[in-house]
Formats: sequence, structure tokens, C-alpha cells
Amino acid sequence: MARTERTFIAVKPDGMNRGILGNIISRFEAKGYKLVGIKTLVPSKQLAEEHYSALKEKPFFKDLVDFITSGPVCAMVWEGEQVVVTARKMIGETNPLSSAPGTIRGDFAVDVGRNVIHGSDAVETAQREISLWFEQGELTAWEPTSAVWIYE
Ligand code: UDP
Repeated sequence: MARTERTFIAVKPDGMNRGILGNIISRFEAKGYKLVGIKTLVPSKQLAEEHYSALKEKPFFKDLVDFITSGPVCAMVWEGEQVVVTARKMIGETNPLSSAPGTIRGDFAVDVGRNVIHGSDAVETAQREISLWFEQGELTAWEPTSAVWIYE
């Protein structure tokens, strides 16, 4: 069922250091999505390289891995109808200067190398990323009492 679609969201070390994690979580909550997994960690180099393995030939790959392993990341799994594509819209473009005001990168970032947040780009990518960052037992299946006010 589409309501159980899940995406992987990570607030990067810039977002954590700048104290905007709460604002970001509030946006997904207010939208009507459900938080089913959350933890903070400083990612290992191995985890970072695996997460961004599709980009390993890119010139910015080393800087990207150095950056994402330089401090805490808040890793999250959010669930709901079309959450993958909708979270990408809420996040904005890869380049924050191309991101519309009202999006997370549009509101909080300037530089592509400090763009605050990651969100999975497709359902299959989300499944891969969720299993890379989380154990099955770290995810919580629950039904918020608000569900009847969010879904018809
Ligand atoms: N990135 C970068 N320089 C670039 C392109 C990307 O530093 O020229 C970083 C940026 O942090 C981006 C991440 O690499 O979020 C992953 O790139 P991707 O193309 O997957 O963008 P995203 O899906 O995060 O928008």
C-alpha cells in the first residue's frame, strides 16, 4: 500500500551544527508524514562511501565523503503516500541557489557543498539507503491517532 512508502532523510553535519534539525523535522511532521526511524551518528568513511557509491567517479566525491563524515548526521526514515518524491520537492534542488524559497535548501542553504540535507531520489534507492543506515529492529511500525485526519 502506498501509504507505507518510506524514504531515507539525513540532516548533514552543516544542518546539525546550525541547529535547524528541529525545523526540518517539523516540516515533515506538519506535512502529515510519519517518523518511523531516527538516530544520530558520525558516519564512518565506509558508510559514507557506500551511501554515495553512485557518485564515486565525480570530482567532488572525496570532499563530499570528508564533509559527511566530519560531524553528526541525523538519519531518519519517514513514511507516507508518495513520500519519496514529495520529500525531494520539500528539499529543493541540489544547488541551493536554484531552490525555491519555501524549500529546505531554498530557505537554509547557499552552497552546493553545504546543502544541509539528503533525501532518497527514488523508491528503490530509498530501500537501499534505509537498509544501509538502519537495522530492521530500529524501525517502528505505528499508527498515529492523527491518521484519520491526514488520509481520507
Ligand atoms: N555535491 C557537491 N557538488 C556538486 C554536486 C553535488 O558537493 O557539484 C554534493 C551535494 O552535497 C549533494 C551530494 O553531493 O547533495 C549528492 O549529489 P546528488 O547529485 O545526489 O544531489 P542530491 O540528490 O543530494 O540533490
